[in-house]
Amino acid sequence: MNLANWLHHTGLVRPDAPALRRGEVLHATYSTFAQRSCAVGDCLRSRFGIRRGDRVALFAKNSAEYLEVLYGALWIGAIIVPINHKLHPREAAWIIGNAEARLVFTDDGRIFTSLSDVVADCREIGLFTEELVGGLGASSRTTYSAPVAVEDDEVAWLFYTSGTTGRPKGVMTTHKNLRMMATSYALDVDTVSCRDHVLYAAPMSHGAGLYNFQFVRAGACHVIPDSQGFDAAEIEKLARALGSLVFFAAPTMIMRLLKHAQSSGYRGEGIRTIVYGGGPMYLADINNALDLFGPRFAQIYGQGESPMTITAMPRDIVADAEHPRAEQRRASVGTAQSCVEVRVVDQAMNERPVGEVGEVVVRGDTVMKGYWQNEAATAETLVEGWLKTGDLGSMDEDGFLTLTDRSKDVIISGGTNIYPREVEEALLTNEKVFEVSVVGSPHPEWGEEVVAFVVLNEGTACSTEELDAWCKTQIASFKKPKRYIFVPELPKNSYGKVLKTSLREQARA
Ligand code: AMP
Repeated sequence: MNLANWLHHTGLVRPDAPALRRGEVLHATYSTFAQRSCAVGDCLRSRFGIRRGDRVALFAKNSAEYLEVLYGALWIGAIIVPINHKLHPREAAWIIGNAEARLVFTDDGRIFTSLSDVVADCREIGLFTEELVGGLGASSRTTYSAPVAVEDDEVAWLFYTSGTTGRPKGVMTTHKNLRMMATSYALDVDTVSCRDHVLYAAPMSHGAGLYNFQFVRAGACHVIPDSQGFDAAEIEKLARALGSLVFFAAPTMIMRLLKHAQSSGYRGEGIRTIVYGGGPMYLADINNALDLFGPRFAQIYGQGESPMTITAMPRDIVADAEHPRAEQRRASVGTAQSCVEVRVVDQAMNERPVGEVGEVVVRGDTVMKGYWQNEAATAETLVEGWLKTGDLGSMDEDGFLTLTDRSKDVIISGGTNIYPREVEEALLTNEKVFEVSVVGSPHPEWGEEVVAFVVLNEGTACSTEELDAWCKTQIASFKKPKRYIFVPELPKNSYGKVLKTSLREQARA
């Protein structure tokens, strides 16, 4: 089934419901949204010769038009290739070339003029230029037809991994994968209603955009902030004005929202749910978030290879203070989502006992079809029907999964495994510490030594001795950092993920 059927359905059932807003201003109702997407599809087919299975890239900031083009491409069975707009055009060009995209939509249609050699055979079109808008004017006179039928295992979204190491890989995500992701959201993460306002504060090319589908089906209103990105004061304003605001945010964004709350006195009025994920949320930080905003947080753990759907923890469990292991649960990433099985295994794929660390593997309806034109990587990652996530974690007796680290981030010092996450959690309980990231660095005697990069809270001072004494009260002595490096900020990629590779280089230097 074509996922665009959901928009077609809502356009017919709730034609007058507000569908797309720019800030508080209405841009389209559901009938207009559906008709424009159908017209985009028509235009892609008739003007640009796009056929079912062709790749159409989107390298643009969040906008209402982004969603219209995304659905327009799906409408005719084309494959969308959303690319993070924060990437360098050269990085985007590499992805466009790898995906062999026929078209790339950009904001103004003029990004790739000097790169035509890199993106040969690909045409660039501005989302807001006459080339598309004019085409739409011509196409909208054609009849409004249902999306083309596609098979469940046809690729809908070619998702390029964020590539914290090496070149990104194209994850083939099918119509069924995304349908199951969206359906599981309603069962495992949070309720979805036509009264919701879903806000795009994070790039649509990643989690925030993936999560549009369930809200289209429910007839909720999609809100694109005027800033087209994350601005805490703007979120407060929109939440107060619109109400029932829901959005996906990486933990670093939540930290910025909490900073704003601390200085402005805002306590989350108008926000219904913030779904966090995409990187570790430390216990000290989520506790702080709950203190300030109350039970408004749900967590998901996923990766491009099983988009947004490995485990989840709904609001009531995140906020639960009664369960004997409430804090342990809150520090976890929750339990397996309803359409997947999740296990923790050893290298031979045997299940590890409760409480013991191993690699997290996933099997089920959201697991990708494979990597785009990369059979070797696919064979390494999909083993015996299971997706090897490369994440390490342990399962408790109730099925709550606690992530320790990516397997490549584990530090082996004196023959013992040290999980950076544990050291980071310990340091973050110190009130002077704002952010921290722990890595291993080569050491002649121990193999590797533990190095902590620390960002202090504004206006505070702290010595190495003080942090060392603090760690002594929190964790075993062999896990304590041997070096502390104070930095003004941590290096992060365009999705806000800490670049441990770059920290390892700095530690070595
Ligand atoms: P990506 O494919 O870019 O979405 O990155 C996925 C990776 O982000 C996962 O394999 C995890 O290492 C990490 N990640 C995602 N969600 C969480 C979470 N809730 N807690 C900790 N790490 C996470």
